[in-house]
Amino acid sequence: MLKNKASSISTEQRNVTRLRVLEHIRRKGAISRIDIAGALQTSPATVTTATADLLSAGLIHEVEGDPQSGSPRRGRPRILLKLNGGSLLIAGFKVTRHYVSVLIADFEGLEIASIKYPLVEACMTPLDFARTIRNALESACAAASVSMSDIAGVSIGIAGLIDAEHNFVHWSSSMSERNVPLGPLLLQELDCPVFIENDANLVAKAEQLFGLGKGLRNFLVITIEHGVGLGIVLNGKLYRGERGCGAEFGHTKVQLDGALCQCGQRGCLEAYVGEYALIREASIAGQDRDRITIADLHDHAQSGDQHALSVLDRAGQVFGMGVSNLINLFDPECIIISGSQVSFQHLYSDSVMERIRKGVVHVDAPLPDIKVNQWDDTMWAKGAIAYAIEQVSTLKIREMPTHAS
Ligand SMILES: [Zn+2]
Repeated sequence: MLKNKASSISTEQRNVTRLRVLEHIRRKGAISRIDIAGALQTSPATVTTATADLLSAGLIHEVEGDPQSGSPRRGRPRILLKLNGGSLLIAGFKVTRHYVSVLIADFEGLEIASIKYPLVEACMTPLDFARTIRNALESACAAASVSMSDIAGVSIGIAGLIDAEHNFVHWSSSMSERNVPLGPLLLQELDCPVFIENDANLVAKAEQLFGLGKGLRNFLVITIEHGVGLGIVLNGKLYRGERGCGAEFGHTKVQLDGALCQCGQRGCLEAYVGEYALIREASIAGQDRDRITIADLHDHAQSGDQHALSVLDRAGQVFGMGVSNLINLFDPECIIISGSQVSFQHLYSDSVMERIRKGVVHVDAPLPDIKVNQWDDTMWAKGAIAYAIEQVSTLKIREMPTHAS
């Protein structure tokens, strides 16, 4: 029994090393064994064992690098390790109010095809949601000329309170029911591993890997969409909270018994800042505003409409107060304001920055950088791809033989 326990610990250690090595190769693109050992502060023998396992599983392959210079082996090409891009196919999803963005990529994250699958309803029953995901994946596979059975893993970004570890939806504006164990429903429809995640966390992941968060250890990403989301990266890792429903910046309270939020509570930040809140506020004045869109609101403001200007200004002031609270809590290196749809310039105007400065506890050091990244929907799906690659890597490594070599 003791022996079994010891062997399971050593299997676990072996898997941790394999994953660290694989992640390091992914980060670097192409790297030699000796450089991996140096970077991970582990022995070359350990790296050789881990890379042999990854090679035999087909997750990485060897390529020739530039010849070594200044060494006794001068002139001989260096052998580098690279991810085996063609070994696995991954699908990343982002569910919006009107459509589902799907991206199919290889194991290196290289895009093969992307589609937008239109939604009939923004808010679905869990079963309809799972079937919609299946239909969207079928369409994407057809566009990529691949079979559904070629997909090694799917990750789905959903707005709301998501327990990613358990594929469980506490609440989402895309779903008509609360407390949904979505994982089993999706598995029935898709027949491959599925990983769901809060959409703002996927943006934080995309910013960390490809965007403005590259190289940063501690940063926050605020997403402005239908609602307001937050991704927290601390010490280089995504922080989700104990129940998987932390980082709900949009539902922090900014007004006692204030405006009604889509989560059912009152006084939440996104009930003043989210798109739906702006449309609601703009519609109160009447005057043909029943069907006002967010783009109309910005147009009205640009042409000097006082009501439109005051709706956007109030949103900016509430947002500024919220951001100063985040800085007071986290003191991050950088805050990235990220969105894909419409203009959100009213959230980083001079008066909003002044509001932030006024709300941050005074120290004689500059404020964290506040950057804006406006991108299209495929960037959300890229975050989903990155998450799926990580999760599928972990699964594949767990499936590897446990031999002690
Ligand atoms: Zn709320």
